[in-house]
Amino acid sequence: MSELKPPSEWRRLLLKVSGEALMGDSAFGISQPTLQRISSEIVAVVNSGREVGLVIGGGNFLRGANLALTAVDRVAGDQMGMLATVMNAVAVAAQLRALGTEAVVLSAIDVPVICDRFTHRGAIQHMAEGRVVLFAAGTGHPFFTTDTAAVLRAVEMECDVLLKGTQVDGVYTADPNRDPTATRYDRVGHQEALSKNLGVMDAAAIALARDNGLPIVVFSIQDTGALPKVVRGEGTSTIVAD
Ligand code: UDP
Repeated sequence: MSELKPPSEWRRLLLKVSGEALMGDSAFGISQPTLQRISSEIVAVVNSGREVGLVIGGGNFLRGANLALTAVDRVAGDQMGMLATVMNAVAVAAQLRALGTEAVVLSAIDVPVICDRFTHRGAIQHMAEGRVVLFAAGTGHPFFTTDTAAVLRAVEMECDVLLKGTQVDGVYTADPNRDPTATRYDRVGHQEALSKNLGVMDAAAIALARDNGLPIVVFSIQDTGALPKVVRGEGTSTIVAD
């Protein structure tokens, strides 16, 4: 898994989308046109013959660390954050089904009325049967992020690559929205991304990817069509791999 295969050889992939990506132009929650656009791009990837897993964040509803400043303690805040990711997963799964693609939500915490609990064998079976698997509730533990959950699931599911859809089209030397001299890396090692604090993902997530040789491709989920392009080996992105 340590070498990034050419995109035509990606058989199973894990897509991470932040909750914020679902907001579109709204300040909170889910924008229907954005939900529909991202879902149809996922459908295009499924129709190209890949097995697709999906981890969605919850930042469009809330982040536990922000709530921890109030009367809600960090653990309670993170539990609420995990529930926010379940809401997003339920929304994307429903939209995928409406577009004619089978999808199933598997949660790291028990929410039995809404979805099944994540098990490795269950997830493998769903993917092999052609369903998009939405891994909800992150790792199921507070003090983690959905980035770490995405790396964990990608490694567990033996995905060929983790595709991280962000607000910018790759990893930059500095924040391109603040520093006009910032330049984009075509490729950067896990260790370099970690030691230079390049903001690809949180440190726990990158370290887990590094230790398990998981390649990550960072691209902009904001750009219409960027996801299917990345899967065709086109467009702009940064490869994070050693
Ligand atoms: N969260 C958690 N454990 C996990 C994943 C997520 O406690 O394994 C909580 C945490 O409060 C986090 C929130 O869920 O702030 C939403 O996830 P995240 O911030 O990763 O979402 P994103 O920024 O990708 O939208």
